[in-house]
Amino acid sequence: MADCIFCKINNGEINTSFLYEDEQIMVFRDINPRAPVHLLIVPREHIADLGAAEEKHKELLGHINLVIAQMARQEGISDKGYRVIMNKGADGGQEVFHLHYHLLGGAPLGNMVTYR
Ligand code: AMP
Repeated sequence: MADCIFCKINNGEINTSFLYEDEQIMVFRDINPRAPVHLLIVPREHIADLGAAEEKHKELLGHINLVIAQMARQEGISDKGYRVIMNKGADGGQEVFHLHYHLLGGAPLGNMVTYR
C-alpha cells in the first residue's frame, strides 16, 4: 500500500531498526512510547486490521503471539508481566491501518481498560 507507514517500513522507504524480523513479521520500537518498553509487532503483509484477517492468516497470527512472548523475554519484562494491545478501527483507537500489536511493559500498567 503506497501511503501506508508500516508498508514503507517494510520496504525500507522509512528507515527503522528492527529488534526482530523474519519473512513474516517485523518488530520495532514505537516512535511515541507509552511505557518504558513499547514495541510494535507487525506483519509484513498489508492486512488493514484484524477484521481483514482470513483463514489463511491463522499461522501468521499464532506466530505473532509467540514472537510477542519471545520479545517480552528478550526485553526482560516477561517475569513481571506486560500488556498486548491490538486496536481495531476508529472506536478501537487505531491510527495506522495496517494490522499491528503493541507490547507494553517495564512498569505497572494497572488492570483496567478504560475509555474517555
Ligand atoms: P495504533 O493507534 O494502534 O494504530 O498505533 C499506531 C502506532 O504506530 C502508534 O503508537 C504510533 O506511535 C506508532 N508509529 C507511527 N509511525 C511510526 C514509525 N514510523 N515508527 C514507529 N512507530 C510508529
